[in-house]
Amino acid sequence: MKLSGSTKIVGLIGYPVEHSKSPVMHNAAFDSLGLDFMYLLFSVRPPYLKEAVMGLRALNIVGANITIPYKEEVMKYLDDITAEAKLIGAVNTIHNQDGKLIGYNTDGQGFITSLLTDGRVKLEGQKVLLIGAGGAGKAVAVKLAERGVERLVITDKIEEKAKALVGRLQENIPDCPVYAMPPGDKEFAKTVLESTLLINATPVGMKEGDPPIIDPEYLHKALFVYDVIYNRETPLIEAAKKRGLRTLDGMGMLIHQGAASFEIWTGQKAPIEVMRNRILQEAGKL
Ligand code: NAP
Repeated sequence: MKLSGSTKIVGLIGYPVEHSKSPVMHNAAFDSLGLDFMYLLFSVRPPYLKEAVMGLRALNIVGANITIPYKEEVMKYLDDITAEAKLIGAVNTIHNQDGKLIGYNTDGQGFITSLLTDGRVKLEGQKVLLIGAGGAGKAVAVKLAERGVERLVITDKIEEKAKALVGRLQENIPDCPVYAMPPGDKEFAKTVLESTLLINATPVGMKEGDPPIIDPEYLHKALFVYDVIYNRETPLIEAAKKRGLRTLDGMGMLIHQGAASFEIWTGQKAPIEVMRNRILQEAGKL
């Protein structure tokens, strides 16, 4: 990778960010297309978020990804936000268009592309149970409701979060039947049994020793299991594979959300296979 006087900069704003695999994925993509771009990590401590975002404009930085803990807070510093990111309530990508900072959310796009292409899942007729109504869950829910599934049930440890998300979806995408389920609801087992797609959008499973997000006894043959976690094979995915179910982890979502951000910044089609190979290599999976 060569730097020139006109190298365009993009990067990741979050805290902490040191663990991120986005630089290797994006820089491999820029290299493969011969684009004079570079992706950097910006570890921004909480008091400095506003200055960091204003700095994108001041330093003529092309754009940024935004990660934990700033996906919601960053919205108040932007000039415009896409309707989808507004509905999700979070921004994970900024594009500096001639000094105008535009906020996007590519997490939902990353999820749906991964589900449709990597998982070859058809959305028609899907009865979905989504666990987790935080950042990832909101993006996944908006995309599923927009694209149309037969039914979407959302549950979260904090009932209010699931209810608020369901309320926003019912108001904005009234054609899709969406319901909130309180935690510990006695209908939970029945809902899993009736579902065809189970999505874990909580951090449960990220750490060694975490239990599966649901009792593996509930995993039935007709269920496709998608876990947005990408740092390891979660106990949920492990249990589902053991029962012969079709599964996907969050690696595809990560790659495709990155690809969507890449396309926003460069205006070029992202080299998905380059990005996938580089990130899998980095994760020790190739
Ligand atoms: P988040 O905003 O904290 O949301 C997680 C939600 O799940 C919270 O509302 C949390 O409640 C809830 N929750 C936790 N344990 C639960 C349980 N046992 N049952 C029901 N709900 C529970 O986190 P996030 O940003 O959405 O991230 C969630 C996971 O997605 C992380 O592992 C992250 O790495 C992953 N992720 C992956 C991608 C990708 O591209 N593959 C993209 C984004 C995020 P509390 O707040 O009360 O704990």
